[in-house]
Amino acid sequence: MSQDNCILRELNLKDKNIHFTDNEAGEWNYFDYRGRGDKRHKCLIYTANLTYSVSRCSDCGFRDCVEHWGWTSTEMRLTGTSLWDVRLALRKQRFHCKNCGNTFTAASSDFEKNCQISRNTKVIVKQNLNEDMMTEKTVAKHLHISPNSVQRIEYDAIYEGGQYKYQYNFKTTITEAIFHGMSSAQPMISLALFGVMPLQSSNLKYCPID
Ligand SMILES: [Zn+2]
Repeated sequence: MSQDNCILRELNLKDKNIHFTDNEAGEWNYFDYRGRGDKRHKCLIYTANLTYSVSRCSDCGFRDCVEHWGWTSTEMRLTGTSLWDVRLALRKQRFHCKNCGNTFTAASSDFEKNCQISRNTKVIVKQNLNEDMMTEKTVAKHLHISPNSVQRIEYDAIYEGGQYKYQYNFKTTITEAIFHGMSSAQPMISLALFGVMPLQSSNLKYCPID
């Protein structure tokens, strides 16, 4: 559906199995508030269903035995073209295998399992930290996610060894990095304390693997 494609582009998503829904007034998004106390703020909310047909059970492998089994709802965090904190109220299709009784939920290429932050948002976090040299706090504010989430994404990137890797130049000692307040040294400092990384690897940056 062309409307879906337009919104997908606007929200920096790609999965064609996400089908957006409008409200009674024919509007595709609306404002609502999220958070408590000082953190209460205005968000731009989209609603959509994630569904597709499944021909084979992922567990037993039998064909034509998978039926729709209701929905489960979750709210995803997005990075779109808007400056608002953009959320996607997503209803995910549940499936049930009549042969083995297995139940499972629709998955999207735009989101990792059990994570509410979109893959593209994670890519932008890494770019902001390592190419734009923004601090964790600034990235968190810029993308409307918590500093803890930014840190978690950074830690995951260190371990994944897939799309990104760390490079070291060993020019600065960890002590100097701490005194000069280098934000890029924060995850390394923590890892060094746990004995995962050498203590002198302070001046580090991301680079894509060819
Ligand atoms: Zn099955």
